[in-house]
Amino acid sequence: MTQNTFSSLTKCRICKTRRFTKIFSYSSSILDGKYTKYYSKTHITYPLTLQRCKGCGFFQLREILPTKIYRDYNFASNNSMSILHWQTQISNYIKKIIPRESKILEIGSGDGSFLQNFLPNNVLGIEPSMKLCKEAHQRGVRALCTYFLKSEALKRQKKYDLVILRHVLEHIDSIDDMIANVIFTLKTEGFVYVETPYICSSIRSNNFSNIFFEHLNYFSLHDMVRLFEIHGLYLQWFKFNSINNGSFGCIFSTHKSFLHLPISDYIGEKELLAFKKNFVKYKTSLLALRKSLKGKVVCGYGAANKTARFLSLGKFSHKDLYEIYDKNGNLHGLHFSGSDIPIVPPDTIRNTNPDYVLLFATAYEKEIIHDMETYGYKGKTVRLYPTIQYL
Ligand SMILES: [Zn+2]
Repeated sequence: MTQNTFSSLTKCRICKTRRFTKIFSYSSSILDGKYTKYYSKTHITYPLTLQRCKGCGFFQLREILPTKIYRDYNFASNNSMSILHWQTQISNYIKKIIPRESKILEIGSGDGSFLQNFLPNNVLGIEPSMKLCKEAHQRGVRALCTYFLKSEALKRQKKYDLVILRHVLEHIDSIDDMIANVIFTLKTEGFVYVETPYICSSIRSNNFSNIFFEHLNYFSLHDMVRLFEIHGLYLQWFKFNSINNGSFGCIFSTHKSFLHLPISDYIGEKELLAFKKNFVKYKTSLLALRKSLKGKVVCGYGAANKTARFLSLGKFSHKDLYEIYDKNGNLHGLHFSGSDIPIVPPDTIRNTNPDYVLLFATAYEKEIIHDMETYGYKGKTVRLYPTIQYL
């Protein structure tokens, strides 16, 4: 395996302190959600380190990978019922506070399903994936296929009543530039809606797989409030949810406010120590699982982003895993970059008939077990989260 070049975070993106505490690290990790068409002789890996700012407590990754790595990312929209329900709830609330006939901009608008809730207002999406822009157009949502920070015309027009940033800020290195440019597009009385994964949920549920390369920033509500206050925007409203193991939405505007934030919105030293210990314990048990299955035919189920976390932590390669099943037809025939494990349709299990199947898609356990039974699978199934268990 070879390790590629990357840059390291030098100062906290919120308080600019240059000192960090290491929380956990992978010495060598494959990329998340990155696939290759061919077997490769050289496997490119990177270290991955979660650290906490000593100045303000904000969690950030040490490694910043070149953005070009994810240019050919397999974009897929996730429209599960729980996500659609949350989107309707949030958009109904926002519609009550923005003016009638508002102009609305969403950065990273995906397939347009969120903006669609705001029609017939004047809506515009910004989305770098051509495929998702086309899907948005089919929903009646206008979308420009570009990156927000590269669109000079957009950044200089102070005309939007609402700017939406859903699951954007966790990916951004130059976060101050992003927020400053959002403010350029916003009317003086305008609102910003921000949504991001919630670090306190990930830490409290020992969800190590929620920490991965593409997410550079891991916010608590306090962190988000401090970040926006630096830019002159104040918290007006917030709401937590349990989607993807916990995230939150919040609304900012220029009106000063003094909302009380929940006391639970901070990870204390005791909780952090338990999280660190659990990481080491979990890693040891995953390595032990791999060793105990040597000589057996072992496959996996679920080839999404999180699978790369389990593969990296347990040091699984194609020598340990014969194939990975996934329903996403776009992935069939591809291999996990850095591991060379092929991804195949779920019904392949009939021919392979493995001794063991590891459940990488941890959130869909019942559905997967049911599917495997339909295909006549008689082997053993292994749960990987929250603890390793033979089912
Ligand atoms: Zn800081």
